[in-house]
Amino acid sequence: MPSIWNGFDTNPHTLPDACVVCAGGVGGNFLRLPCKHGGPESYPLHVECMIRSLVPVERGTPQQAPRCPVCRGGIDTETLTEVADYIRQDKLVTFPSEDGIAISQPLCQTPEQKASFLSLITTAHEAIHGGELEPSDQETSPAYYDHLSQIAEELINSINNSIEEHNYTLEEIDQKMLEIQDLDAHLLERSGRIALLDHVGWAIAGGDFGEIYDRLVSLRTQLERSREQLTEEREQKQREAEEQDHAHHFA
Ligand SMILES: [Zn+2]
Ligand SMILES: [Zn+2]
Repeated sequence: MPSIWNGFDTNPHTLPDACVVCAGGVGGNFLRLPCKHGGPESYPLHVECMIRSLVPVERGTPQQAPRCPVCRGGIDTETLTEVADYIRQDKLVTFPSEDGIAISQPLCQTPEQKASFLSLITTAHEAIHGGELEPSDQETSPAYYDHLSQIAEELINSINNSIEEHNYTLEEIDQKMLEIQDLDAHLLERSGRIALLDHVGWAIAGGDFGEIYDRLVSLRTQLERSREQLTEEREQKQREAEEQDHAHHFA
């Protein structure tokens, strides 16, 4: 489950409490930590406030494993790779304005800011036991990314075809939603790691991690489109079922 959430998009729409670190900004993007702090219901924490909390307390002291600013619970590598992906992608942050209209802006205003955030995440990642940033054999194999692309493309094509023919049952739509969710979570973890590996200067035989990163992000964008289509298809199917019910009722 993605840990980053937007203060403006909560459903039902209630603005979260102030951020536990900066005590401000009910808008913006927040991060739910493994201990559940930082979520909408418990001590919201801005993504950038978490990243800034990763700076060692005293210059020159060894980096400590990253911890929750509320309970000192550990932050895991999955959470950090998700944040790395978010920073690398220059995701827009949506803020509510006075008149209730959303305004969006990037989190990092300059490339230097972005690099500095990625460096903080890298150091914190490496301070976690087992979090050394070294690519696995799989991660340096171009065939592995071809395989991932193939899986994603097959899923996207099969969804496209069935939506065109309008032949999914509601159960099948839910099943496809779950498949998208699993694959998306897997791609997110991969792309977050690649963002960090690329940042620390690793490369892949016959290519670079930057290209691989863009490819995975493009697959995730296509999966998101399939998810939206499935949502529309489900709404239409439900409307049709209700209309039929209604027709029966008056027959
Ligand atoms: Zn904050
Ligand atoms: Zn906590």
